[in-house]
Amino acid sequence: MNQLQRIEKALDRIRPALQKDGGNVELLDVQGNKVYLRLQGACQGCPSSMVTLKRGVMAAITQEAPEITEVIEVAPDGTERVTSTTDNDPWAGQARIDGIKLIIAIASGKGGVGKSTVAVNFALALKAKGLKVGLLDADIYGPSIPTMLGVTHVPPPVNERLTPAEAFGLKLISIGFFVPSDSPMIWRGPMVMKAIDQFLHDVSWGELDCLVIDLPPGTGDAQLTLAQQVPVDGVVIVTTPSDVALIDARRGLQMFKKVNVPVLGIVENMSYFICPHCDERTDIFSAGGGRDVAKLLETEFLGEIPLDTMIRASGDRGAPVVVSEPDSKQAKVFKDFADVVWNKVTRMLPSWNKSACHVFIPKPGAIPVRIMTK
Ligand code: ADP
Repeated sequence: MNQLQRIEKALDRIRPALQKDGGNVELLDVQGNKVYLRLQGACQGCPSSMVTLKRGVMAAITQEAPEITEVIEVAPDGTERVTSTTDNDPWAGQARIDGIKLIIAIASGKGGVGKSTVAVNFALALKAKGLKVGLLDADIYGPSIPTMLGVTHVPPPVNERLTPAEAFGLKLISIGFFVPSDSPMIWRGPMVMKAIDQFLHDVSWGELDCLVIDLPPGTGDAQLTLAQQVPVDGVVIVTTPSDVALIDARRGLQMFKKVNVPVLGIVENMSYFICPHCDERTDIFSAGGGRDVAKLLETEFLGEIPLDTMIRASGDRGAPVVVSEPDSKQAKVFKDFADVVWNKVTRMLPSWNKSACHVFIPKPGAIPVRIMTK
């Protein structure tokens, strides 16, 4: 196969997913190690989102044609504008993390909506699918995941690298292992950035299909910086159906959109209550709020999780429901949610495959993308 055929083959692989959302990629020319393309796509969070598209295209091409060093986008309107990945590119500061194929973040506009509960059960549900999963608890305001997994400390570092703790087959690092719970909040903001950087790059994660990150709640500076610096492939926003939480979820969603982090959708926690005696469903808050917000903000509604004693008690006990009651209705809700998210994120990033390693995150300066509006 010659170079042109290999590049066409790469693009053929990603076209079906793009075209589903009205996006496309057209090969115009190849000159030496430069590929000239026309890209089409606008749908935020979908495979055709420009950011996702560029990352997918770069990854796919370099898998088939590693000699390619530059991908040049030629826009159809004839005007001239040249931008490199280092200008305004939210991924410019990110480096690939060896061995980690995908990073999915769990976020919320405010605390107390069950973000950590969702993150931990989601990670365990991915594990139950046979995937290799790590969990990074970056919630500075309430690192509760060690308690939920019944872990109190990490093993000692080896060769100056942190070793993650293990629980139910998950690899776990939590900011709670390193920051005393009574340390003043003012310390924590600046510490978290350094800590996250270390947690991504100085931890012996080994090979992971997915690293799940439990982000701190809110839409402040810490979250914004995190969203820009952590190479997240997709973020899930957790909300509850109450109006206040939904307003915060909207804020969160807008923040991620602004920094071009693909938003996978919204999941509504404590969505409804099923009476343990008569099995009747009660919508404690108004029903359908998360679904409405998702629709309004043009993102996917990923599911609803009931308010349930077993979900709370199992987390408090250190054995979340997905592992302590794997065949229960409650565990099934989390497993179904995990399936929806996993299918979406792997479809969104067509270059994902079982042998690849987070290839869609370019090392700074590795493959410059020039946007030429000419
Ligand atoms: P956050 O990370 O958003 O601050 P947590 O996951 O720590 O929230 O949850 C806050 C509290 O709510 C915890 O006691 C947790 O057990 C409980 N909780 C979370 N989700 C549910 C649920 N679906 N049903 C019952 N209790 C829940």
